[in-house]
Amino acid sequence: MKAIAITPRVPNSARVVDVPEPKVTNDQVLVRMIRAGICGTDAEINSGAFGAAPPGFEYLILGHENFGQVERVGSRTSRFKKGDYVVATVRRPCDCLNCAAGESDMCLKDQFTERGIRRQHGFLAEYYVDTEDFLIAIPAPLRDVAVLLEPYSIVAKAMWQAWKIQERMVWQPQTALVTGAGTIGLLAALALRARGLQVVICARSKKGTLNSMLAQEMGATYVSLQDTPLDEISKLLGNRVDVIFEATGHGPTALKTLELVTTNGIVLLNSVTSASHPVTLDSDALNMRMVLGNMLAVGVVNANRKYFEMGVQAFEDFSERFPGILERMLTLRVALRDFSSDLFKRQGVKTTIEIHPD
Ligand SMILES: [Zn+2]
Ligand SMILES: [Zn+2]
Repeated sequence: MKAIAITPRVPNSARVVDVPEPKVTNDQVLVRMIRAGICGTDAEINSGAFGAAPPGFEYLILGHENFGQVERVGSRTSRFKKGDYVVATVRRPCDCLNCAAGESDMCLKDQFTERGIRRQHGFLAEYYVDTEDFLIAIPAPLRDVAVLLEPYSIVAKAMWQAWKIQERMVWQPQTALVTGAGTIGLLAALALRARGLQVVICARSKKGTLNSMLAQEMGATYVSLQDTPLDEISKLLGNRVDVIFEATGHGPTALKTLELVTTNGIVLLNSVTSASHPVTLDSDALNMRMVLGNMLAVGVVNANRKYFEMGVQAFEDFSERFPGILERMLTLRVALRDFSSDLFKRQGVKTTIEIHPD
């Protein structure tokens, strides 16, 4: 079968390869991929920054944002049948306490694996096999947007954890700032709008891009950092920023958000930043703000199946309240055979690789 693979730690090695089709055991399900999304994580793996091949392989099949259809089920499986639409989770557990409790996203040992990222092949292939525990059933009406479920699962986790943590007090958030207007930033803005918050989303691009138009259609205010510096954005929210969702991929901006959140607020840090940007900051002033304002910063990585399931519910809600927005985030569709690593120089919102389109 055809797949997209990289050689770990070799810059710009992503290519179309021919590999054997995976064999399905009695405990597994064989899934025929419909499409996969690509994102900054894939680009960083292709740059050689990280990524590891499965034991015994010199290559890693890329791809973690996935959507497919069950092709065949093993005799000892019971939850799926041929034709069911599914999205697979990404992280696979180790034997630590949290992994054993179904929360591999909170792994204690750093021995987890991740499909398409770390020691397990990914989903940029014609077929994959997996066990039922890691497959999420997708209702047919969501089939056109389900490839966005994996990126949304991280947003779902961030939202659920933020509201859970903030049970530390009576908390009635009204305002939110999202930094970064890529797929994750836009999905976060949508989730925050759905919770009824006033949302400002900022990014470097001028107004007029599709990203800025989608933000405005969901009722968020889009601010270009070319027009308004980050320091001045809280004025647009009445000098009150209850929630900050950081998704720029830029360390100095991530740190800066700690200076923008207001009393009792929460900063959700979601960017993977593998570059290096040393900064000078007034550590005492920052510490003082955080202490006197009861402020909180939380890192959020990956998601377990609970958050994917929340995502399915959220997508059903969004399709009624914000019709067409998720669909319009899928901006570029490329056939598997036409894959090239130029696609990582992203334009638009989400690029998908069409493997077996419906
Ligand atoms: Zn991704
Ligand atoms: Zn673990």
